[in-house]
Amino acid sequence: MPTNYDVHEYDVLVIGAGGAGMRAAIESAQKGMHTALVCKSLLGKAHTVMAEGGMAAALGNVEKKDNWKVHFVDTMFGGKFLNQWRMAQLHAQESPDRARELESWGAVFDRTDDGQILQRNFGGHAYPRLAHVGDRTGLELIRTLQERVVASGRHPHTAEKEIKVHMECTIYRLLKTDGRVSGAVGYWRETGKPIVFRAKSVVLATGGLGKCYRVTSNSWEGTGDGHALAYMAGAELIDMEFIQFHPTGMVWPPSVRGILVTEGVRGEGGVLKNNKDERFMFGYIPELYKNQTADTPEEGEKYIKKVPGARRPPELLTRDVVARAIVREVKEGRGSPHGGAFLDIASRLPADQIKKKLPSMYHQFMALGNLDITQEPMEVGPTCHYAMGGVRVNPETQQSSVPGLFAAGEVAGGLHGSNRLGGNSLSDLVVFGRRAGLYAAEFAQKNGTLPPLDTNQLESCLQEMYAPFEKPKGENAFIVTSALQDTMEANVGIARQEEELKQALADIAGLKDRAAVLGVAGDSRFNPGWHQTISLDFLLVCSEAIAKSALERRESRGGHMRVDHLETLDEYGTFNHVVWRGEDGQMQLRREPLTAMPAELAALIEEKKNG
Ligand code: FAD
Repeated sequence: MPTNYDVHEYDVLVIGAGGAGMRAAIESAQKGMHTALVCKSLLGKAHTVMAEGGMAAALGNVEKKDNWKVHFVDTMFGGKFLNQWRMAQLHAQESPDRARELESWGAVFDRTDDGQILQRNFGGHAYPRLAHVGDRTGLELIRTLQERVVASGRHPHTAEKEIKVHMECTIYRLLKTDGRVSGAVGYWRETGKPIVFRAKSVVLATGGLGKCYRVTSNSWEGTGDGHALAYMAGAELIDMEFIQFHPTGMVWPPSVRGILVTEGVRGEGGVLKNNKDERFMFGYIPELYKNQTADTPEEGEKYIKKVPGARRPPELLTRDVVARAIVREVKEGRGSPHGGAFLDIASRLPADQIKKKLPSMYHQFMALGNLDITQEPMEVGPTCHYAMGGVRVNPETQQSSVPGLFAAGEVAGGLHGSNRLGGNSLSDLVVFGRRAGLYAAEFAQKNGTLPPLDTNQLESCLQEMYAPFEKPKGENAFIVTSALQDTMEANVGIARQEEELKQALADIAGLKDRAAVLGVAGDSRFNPGWHQTISLDFLLVCSEAIAKSALERRESRGGHMRVDHLETLDEYGTFNHVVWRGEDGQMQLRREPLTAMPAELAALIEEKKNG
């Protein structure tokens, strides 16, 4: 084990350089804090870069009737009312300002004829609401934020930049002193050498956990690090049972199974069909959405053409509804040849329009599937896409239950309830990234000096981190990860039931034992086997939290479907599941009652329920 390590001192440490982390770092630096920004890959390569369809913000540029109240209600409906209402309110109120801010910082959004930010339709949104740049919105968001990070000035009290970026650096554990967070320990991915950060406050912005599953749209970075780091440091996780299976991932060829096909395809008029050429979604409109959904293809067509008063086609129902419909079609023998459904944009738009509106999709299918989507339908099916659950935070400040520890973006829970609306993540990143940076800076200012470094804690972290090198013949972490993904896919997937969830928990317990004695050959210089031992620890925490919460939720709601409890129950609509690490080291779970919503917000929801 290396015994010497660099120690870096900052006011605020931001872990993760996706949209949420970069926005948090910008805000923290603007408040005068010397800020570190740490990421596993290169700056600009975070998962956010993959976001395609757009960023939801009730700007009202395309439909004047849109405003924050409509966006708030849509978000609550999408989450089946388990959302933290205050987060949903802040998100709806502040996302237009964040979109305009990005524009003022140089983001080049697509434009309306009169030069405003263009907005497109997306599932669950009452009006065209997604500000977008073709189907490469995440790239533009990252590019814009990255430019500001890189352009940050010199910090007045140090010789360093206001935002100092540490790339290809993995955080392994958070450090605590006297109950509050005091920094983090990690390693350089290239050399394997340790690095220690001391900080007055820490923002987690580590993104998602899709790699718990075999079929996922997430990149290699989505291993739930921040969820697990927070949990290990004593923070709580909320709503972990709710995993979004995006209805349209590629299903063929097998090597690219799971890669996302943006909802923008359906937003631009794409329709889903089964192997009998039937547009099956008209048969799956839930009661809750009946009065907002078109009855006929003709009405759906009018909506796509933006005819006032027309209701949206059923292909634009929320993701949970569409994903389940595809699974049912496949199960009942009406699936496409490779076990999905057909998504047809070719017969809906001229080829040049498809290439203009959906350039990445055109190239993705050409390059990976040898299929021309301007001529033929795509084959699509559900893929693990997004974690609604995450670190439980204060809705205003984003602070977790551990003093000084904040979380924003996909790693934080609460905004989306049981199901996220498409486009509500990119806006989440900038709304709550800004808030996390602001309040982490405030915490650092109020709490003056750096907490002392607990060297015993640090030494034991380092010992644990390098332990696999002492067992060169021990089991390989990739084998154990693969077994974990198998059980999560088979037993905690899109359709769940009691016996299978219990099986998954038993499997996870066994895999934890195996993970405790993993071995690694070679040394610590860029050693993927060793990196995987670390990711596996994080994946196991997340998987257990998902399976445990899913077992206890004996109903179906949003991203959680129990085939043994298909109904949505009022009783389960009154609380969120919260998990945390008990004093005995075991995962604990409780029901946390929802906080009461102000009467004026409740009235908005009732109004929509009553049509
Ligand atoms: P990420 O962008 O995932 O960044 C995480 C950062 O944390 C990375 O820099 C990573 O290196 C770092 N990190 C992680 N662990 C560690 C560690 N241990 N140590 C150090 N650093 C660490 N949402 C929308 O709203 N609209 C869309 O159109 C849309 N399209 C999508 C398309 C695809 C294909 C996918 C997969 C998702 C899409 N989403 C979309 C969802 C959205 O992109 C993500 O939820 C969002 O980008 C997550 O951003 P983030 O800032 O929370 O984290």
